[in-house]
Amino acid sequence: MHWPNPRSIIKYLEQTMPNIMIRCPTVGTAVPTGLSTEKIRFESLSGVTMPLQCPACRKLHHWERKAAWIADEIEAGHGEA
Ligand SMILES: [Zn+2]
Repeated sequence: MHWPNPRSIIKYLEQTMPNIMIRCPTVGTAVPTGLSTEKIRFESLSGVTMPLQCPACRKLHHWERKAAWIADEIEAGHGEA
């Protein structure tokens, strides 16, 4: 299996459960929210705004479910910006 970049491998090893991801509006890269579908039900986030201390730009973002996706989907076609 070919991984697109080393960070994906690290992410996979650290958390085998799928992460919920958002795209950082500042740097435009995908970042993990720190939540996973093991801990929460993705559908339960509907209509909720969640705060995130962004690991990419270190600012505080607020995100909604409609802006987020499950990490598995990245490898299915989401390119790294
Ligand atoms: Zn950010």
